Amino acid sequence: MARKYIDCRDFPDETNCSIALTADSEEELIEAAIEHGTKIHGYENTPETRENVKKGIKEGTPPA
Ligand SMILES: [Zn+2]
Repeated sequence: MARKYIDCRDFPDETNCSIALTADSEEELIEAAIEHGTKIHGYENTPETRENVKKGIKEGTPPA
């Protein structure tokens, strides 16, 4: 199964966060991103947030 990732640099905000999260499944990745997002970025765990996270998911591994 291909790796999937979310790069926080694709969601620029005042934290200038450079974290990238990777996982094998979209579900895992969304959970990890929500956990990170709520803790670091003050996002709320809402269906809308999850939808935005989902849109940011990319195939493969994060660029160096
Ligand atoms: Zn972040």
